[in-house]
Amino acid sequence: MTGAVFSRAAGRDLPVVAGGRGAELFDTTGRRYLDAAGGAIVVGIGHGSAEVADAIAAQARSVAYVHGSAFASPSLTEYVETLGPLLPVDDPYVYPVSGGSEAVETALKMARAYHLARGEDRSVVIGRTGAYHGNTRGALDVSGRDGLRAPYLPWLGSAARTTSPYEYRCSFPDSHPNGCGAQHAEALEQVIVAQGPQNVAAFIAEPIAGAALGACVPSADYWPAITEVCHRYGVLVIADEVMTGFGRTGRWFGSDHWGVRPDLLVAAKGAASGYWPLGLTVCSGEVHDTIQKAGFVHGFTYSHHAVGAAAGLAVLKILQRDGLVEAAAERGEQLGAELQKELGDHPHVGDIRGRGLLWAVELVADRETKAPFPRSERVAERIVAAAKERGVLLYHSTGCANGTEGDLLVFGPPLVITPAEVTEVAKGS
Ligand code: PLP
Repeated sequence: MTGAVFSRAAGRDLPVVAGGRGAELFDTTGRRYLDAAGGAIVVGIGHGSAEVADAIAAQARSVAYVHGSAFASPSLTEYVETLGPLLPVDDPYVYPVSGGSEAVETALKMARAYHLARGEDRSVVIGRTGAYHGNTRGALDVSGRDGLRAPYLPWLGSAARTTSPYEYRCSFPDSHPNGCGAQHAEALEQVIVAQGPQNVAAFIAEPIAGAALGACVPSADYWPAITEVCHRYGVLVIADEVMTGFGRTGRWFGSDHWGVRPDLLVAAKGAASGYWPLGLTVCSGEVHDTIQKAGFVHGFTYSHHAVGAAAGLAVLKILQRDGLVEAAAERGEQLGAELQKELGDHPHVGDIRGRGLLWAVELVADRETKAPFPRSERVAERIVAAAKERGVLLYHSTGCANGTEGDLLVFGPPLVITPAEVTEVAKGS
């Protein structure tokens, strides 16, 4: 007689994880894996931190759960006070949630509430081709992964789409030598005008596209130009920092690379580094004051979770104390250089790109034409399986901006990865 079967593992012979330390994982047979993907680009401070485990236990022992509308918890108060100065948002207000999709949903609601409170009925949100923003209804609506969206189209709303700054297959091949930011900003402006500026509530994008498109770093002029267009039409900028937040790209937040100040910012994965399902929606003081005056209601049962805040605070202190954001910048340069050395000349490697400890290798059938492999060959997926056999864990994705489907190997190791382990990752992939 068998009991219930865990859905994801059903019918698959997966190794059973026994524990982890830093960038290493061990299964129950004692096999070691080097985790170059941080799970799903989640784990920043490394596996097996006794410090975070102790903080979680201490909070749970004292009190695990109180309802956020009845009590504030000291861990949450200290958490947001410590986090505040690090956020690239003016006069930031933090609304905690339990993950990335919840954070995106909250930001979408806030954008709509903001305009309604100002007497404007704006409901269109503009996303980018190929983007991924989560799996709930609103998050899927603003995502640009057509394959993921297709079955749910009748349910989805009115999101519009603009170009992605995907330089390898750029929508503007003859762009200005200083970068194609101006062309992307023009394309965005055309979408805003076509939708009617009075209808457009917000633009949502990752500062550096994460796993979905494979670490696409936009040209230096992209974000300033995009932000200028949005603000000229009264459109709020939502930075999706679910993957890029908390040091992943070698700065505290991806927005910091360009000094842009989004009106709303969402974060999750690295916030509690996988030790707790913590997410955050952050809005500027102006957005906060406007939506609060109109009676905006925030709250899920587990928003404001005291244990989640304790986990987030412990992670934040470790990131600061151990200089892990700076380490991510250094190790990232090393990883990029070593990937280039190992794979740069390979006939099926089209592009190697990234920033900090978020890197991707785009595989192609033909380097000259950039033609992708047929989908049915599942090349990246098979390489990830082979690397796992060699003890290196990678992440694969099928980037699909500009109408192409690609094969991407994505790298997002814990920020605590050592120089020797970086070399092992580059050689093992
Ligand atoms: N936004 C981005 C950029 C993501 O990468 C993800 C998840 O991969 C999400 C949102 C959704 O986060 P979650 O899976 O925690 O709901």
